[in-house]
Order: sequence, then structure tokens, then C-alpha cells
Amino acid sequence: MSNEKTSKLDALVAKARQDAAARESGYREQALKIYPWVCGRCARTFTHSNLRELTVHHRDHNHHNNPTDGSNWELLCLYCHDNEHQRQLEAASGLGGGAQPTNAATHSPFADLKNLLNRKP
Ligand SMILES: [Zn+2]
Ligand SMILES: [Zn+2]
Repeated sequence: MSNEKTSKLDALVAKARQDAAARESGYREQALKIYPWVCGRCARTFTHSNLRELTVHHRDHNHHNNPTDGSNWELLCLYCHDNEHQRQLEAASGLGGGAQPTNAATHSPFADLKNLLNRKP
């Protein structure tokens, strides 16, 4: 890969990140215009002073699906939003059945080193 290609790729990635950030703030503003500032789960109400705790949840969990009519958005407070995703994770792991975290600490790359050093020629 030439340097020119790499810098083009970097520019593309930077632009994609910018676009994503713009979309992100864009749909939140739109959702806050469309919907009343109330959490869809616990019915907590929000004002300008605590509005940053009100977040936009995507009903289908696809952050790129942002229809302008707001049909994929739901306003949730931070806590309910957290719960919502937690439930989703639990459901997903239940269906997936056993993605256990691997215990990398039990593997020692130096386990054989001592034997090698002690080995008589
Ligand atoms: Zn809530
Ligand atoms: Zn969400």
C-alpha cells in the first residue's frame, strides 16, 4: 500500500466519523422536536436543565435507521435506556448459548522456557 492510498483512506475514515457525528446530533435534535421530553419507560419528564439525560433509543437497534418521521426513535432516560440495552444483551446471550469469556491469564508463553533453559545439552 502506498502512502498516498493510506492518507486517502485516513481522510475517508475521518470524513465518515464526522458524518456519523453529524447524523448522531441531527437525529437527537429531530427526535426532541417531534416527541415530548418524557422518558418512554418511567415517564420522567425533562427540561432544558436535565435534557442531556434524555437519550434517543433506536427501536430496531440500528443507529443508521433514522426515518424522519421518528418511527424508529424512542426517547428514554439514561437509566431506562441502559436497562433496555441490558435486556437486549441478555436476550441475545440467552439465544447464542455460551459465548464464555476465555481466560487468557491461564496461558503463559513462558511456561516452557524454564524447561528449555534447564535442558542439558
Ligand atoms: Zn426512564
Ligand atoms: Zn438504544
